[in-house]
Amino acid sequence: MEMTEVFDSLKKLQGVLVSRYEIEKQIESAPKQLGSQEEFLCTLEKEMNAKDAEYQTIKENVEKLKVELEDAVTSRENGEKNMDNVTTHREYEALDKQIAEASIREKEVRASLQKEEKRLEESLASLENSKSLIDSQKAELDEGRSVLDKQVAEFKSQLDDLKKSEDEISSRLDEKYQETVHKFHSIIKRNSEGIVAVRNGVCMGCHMILPAQFANEVRGGEKILFCPYCSRILFYEETGEEEQENFLDLDETGSLADFLSDEEDDFSDDSEDDSFAAQGEDGYDSSSDDGFSSSGDDGIVDDEDDEDEGEDELDDDGDSESDAE
Ligand SMILES: [Zn+2]
Repeated sequence: MEMTEVFDSLKKLQGVLVSRYEIEKQIESAPKQLGSQEEFLCTLEKEMNAKDAEYQTIKENVEKLKVELEDAVTSRENGEKNMDNVTTHREYEALDKQIAEASIREKEVRASLQKEEKRLEESLASLENSKSLIDSQKAELDEGRSVLDKQVAEFKSQLDDLKKSEDEISSRLDEKYQETVHKFHSIIKRNSEGIVAVRNGVCMGCHMILPAQFANEVRGGEKILFCPYCSRILFYEETGEEEQENFLDLDETGSLADFLSDEEDDFSDDSEDDSFAAQGEDGYDSSSDDGFSSSGDDGIVDDEDDEDEGEDELDDDGDSESDAE
């Protein structure tokens, strides 16, 4: 298998994986989209419960006032009826007092009752208002949920398609690249780019300048090389500015066999993402004599944060072929 095919496959795989992780993120965050609507519904329901309690209180009060009114009316009417049978002045005065008091009470209670009945009416209207608001909110939420369900289903079918492409691309790569593919997944998950160009000896992923010897190897394109700083897979990209001589001096001793033995050693203890950043020397050709192959721990930077540093280095290390000699 030609290395250019491997690089092309990895680039294709990168496109697939970036889409896949993006979609997975969206599926994960989908339920949160309705969170504010659910919260609003919850507030409305609490409000409605409070209104309902108030309505019940007013209703009880109205019933009580109705009984009181009935009492007052009965008392007044009885008084008036008994007036016909009055025989003494004393009886007359007592009845007169009863009627007067009952009339006053009747008037007061009737006024209170009217007021309370009006409140009850308003309370009922407000309660019904709340109920219809809740109904429409529920309907909206249901619709939102069904839209979201469809969206998620659509995402999932996209994922299925992506998985097929992913498997297809992976299966085209030789067995020996499967570990590389595995690492590739981790890098893309974190950085969204797992394979980047090297231009003028600079990694386009982290913008660090690479040791000249190493950059030459990338240029040779004979094996998979990982950036010692950001761990991304590197491929050479012509800029038109570079001189040919670097390429001609390419160290040819780094064979595929070297790479394979390196790979096995390095990959055997590579379990998860976190350990990966320290694995910058993966696939790095041990035949280079610039002392760089021990770069694992201190030379590694995790992300793009170190652009400035990289550019600084560019200034005093632009043409560092001598390093490798
Ligand atoms: Zn890099």
